[in-house]
Amino acid sequence: MHQKEWYQYASQYLPGGVCSSARVHRSLNQPVYIASAEGSRIFDIEGKEYIDLFMSFGAGLLGHGNPNIKSAINKAINLGFPSAYENIFQGQLAQKISETVPCADMVRFTLSGTETTWYAVRFARQITGRSIVLKFEGHFHGFNDYLAYNYWPSPEGMWPVFTPAINGIPDAFQKDTKVLPFNDLERLEETLEKHGHEIAAVILEPLNYNSGTIEPLPGYLERLRELTHQNGILLIFDEILANFRTGPGCIQAYYGVTPDMCTLGKVLAGGLALSAICGRREIMSHIAPLGDVQQSGTYNALWIPIMAGLAFMDTVTQPNFYNEYLSQCKRFYDGVNEIMQRNQFPSRIQGVGGRCSFLFGPLAEQERLINYNDFVRNDWTMALNFYRTALEHGIYMHSAHHHGISAMHTNEDIDQIFERIEDVVISLNKNTLSSNLLRKSSPEFF
Ligand code: PMP
Repeated sequence: MHQKEWYQYASQYLPGGVCSSARVHRSLNQPVYIASAEGSRIFDIEGKEYIDLFMSFGAGLLGHGNPNIKSAINKAINLGFPSAYENIFQGQLAQKISETVPCADMVRFTLSGTETTWYAVRFARQITGRSIVLKFEGHFHGFNDYLAYNYWPSPEGMWPVFTPAINGIPDAFQKDTKVLPFNDLERLEETLEKHGHEIAAVILEPLNYNSGTIEPLPGYLERLRELTHQNGILLIFDEILANFRTGPGCIQAYYGVTPDMCTLGKVLAGGLALSAICGRREIMSHIAPLGDVQQSGTYNALWIPIMAGLAFMDTVTQPNFYNEYLSQCKRFYDGVNEIMQRNQFPSRIQGVGGRCSFLFGPLAEQERLINYNDFVRNDWTMALNFYRTALEHGIYMHSAHHHGISAMHTNEDIDQIFERIEDVVISLNKNTLSSNLLRKSSPEFF
């Protein structure tokens, strides 16, 4: 079957032909159906091969079908993988996380990132006895009703306008969430001065991969840490996407600022469904049966992802893992940027650690992005054209706008990426941009 036929077939039974709305590729208006994957490559149902630059929304840090993960999965299968039983493996994985991630005295395992950020916020509310949660524009925390505001609003819906990112959230929830622009200390100080005593938690992507790979300005996280501490507010780093991209200590170790709690996910079990809420012992001791904060689920900490998680941690704590992986990433970013410049193509990669954003149009010239106010000015039409042309040239990019290579991308893969990206750029330079793409004024992820 061809992609179009498969899409028509799947659409009869799956809304939009997909199991997750974001899997629709915005430049094709349907997903690319994949038949198999190995290492750096994915193969679609028509047999076309792509070098993957998307890696499963970032979950594939170790590469597709990584042999260490495969053998861990097989071990769990051979033990009969019962649901909802404790084994020693869960404690061992928690210990490994605790040894590397600064705030993680204790860990509770969950499934998806959405569920995890939802729990983190509820914990904070219960522990502090306060109800308001502060988040930042352009920071994504999954489709959790507490936090789904100002994810990627169109210019009219941007801060100070308060914009739900999804419908169906009760209006009553809105009074308990506040949104601010990231990296704006003046606004932060002003808000905490007024409302600090009512705020349960500040949650953020300390490195904002979801809106252009925006780093915190020097001193910003430190001051945020100070202010939250002074006001009795719990600071939560949502590291679902950013964890393990810069080193085994995650982003909190990279910037040297330790939150009260953090969320981990995506890569944690080599791409299987496993997330975690981590925190200081004093906070985690509120969780039942120690305290009265509930966190329970039939599918918490299943053996297959837990064993895969152990293999993941063993792999990324090998002495040379990050030296090798991060130097490959740097080679990829520098090489692509050189191609863009040499061909005078208005784009650049903004990469930190293992994940990056391709920026287009005005942002190609702008050295530093401060917050979503900058990211929204990306040339979205050009972005979608680029991704679509990349697909045609055997590079898998996706309209979720964050990309990266895996630890299984080899030097030869990167050489091939350069060749194919150069072909994409040359082809786009020759043709004026496709006219059958709607002009977009914001990322419109979903
Ligand atoms: N938080 C962040 C920072 C994310 O990037 C994501 C997913 N992209 C989530 C939460 C939600 O995770 P999940 O898709 O596993 O629900």
